[in-house]
Amino acid sequence: MQYKTHFAGGALLTLAVIQHTDIAAPDQIVPFAVAAMIGSVAPDIDHKNSFISNRLKPFGFLVRRTTTHRGATHSPLIIFLFSLLMYYGLELAGFSSSAYAIASGFFIGAISHVLLDMLNTQGVPLLFPVPKAKRFRLARIRTGGLIEKVIFIVLTLFAFQFLLNMI
Ligand SMILES: [Zn+2]
Repeated sequence: MQYKTHFAGGALLTLAVIQHTDIAAPDQIVPFAVAAMIGSVAPDIDHKNSFISNRLKPFGFLVRRTTTHRGATHSPLIIFLFSLLMYYGLELAGFSSSAYAIASGFFIGAISHVLLDMLNTQGVPLLFPVPKAKRFRLARIRTGGLIEKVIFIVLTLFAFQFLLNMI
C-alpha cells in the first residue's frame, strides 16, 4: 500500500480508538495521534523508496541491512516490542507524562499498517519470527492500483466522519 493510504487507515483507526476507548487521556490525544500517524508509515522503513525511509535515511539503511521488505518491521510481535522499548526509553528520558500515549499511539498506527498490507498479494508475516511461518493476506490488491485508490477514498471519508463526530 502507498503511504497516503496508510496515513488514511492510520487516521481512521486512531480516531476510532480515541473515540471508543480510554487509551489516550484528553490531554494526551495530540501526542497519541502524532505518534500513531508516524507509526502508520513506520513499518515501510524496510523499503528503499518509502515515505519514511526517505526521511530517515541512515536509519532506513540500517534496517534494510538487517531485514527483508515486509519482514520484521511488519511483525506484530516486533512492533509490540519496539513500542515497549519506546515506552521505557521515553520514561528514562524524562517524558513520562506522554510516554504511554506516544508508545501506544505508535503501536496502534503500526498495526493499522500491517492490517492494510494484508490486503496486498505479498501479505504480511504475522507470526514472525516463527521459522517458516506463512504470510497472511486477506486480498490480492495491487499497490497503487484502482482498488487501492478506492480504499484510500473510503478510509478518508470514514476518518472525516469520525472527526466530525468528535467536534
Ligand atoms: Zn508495508
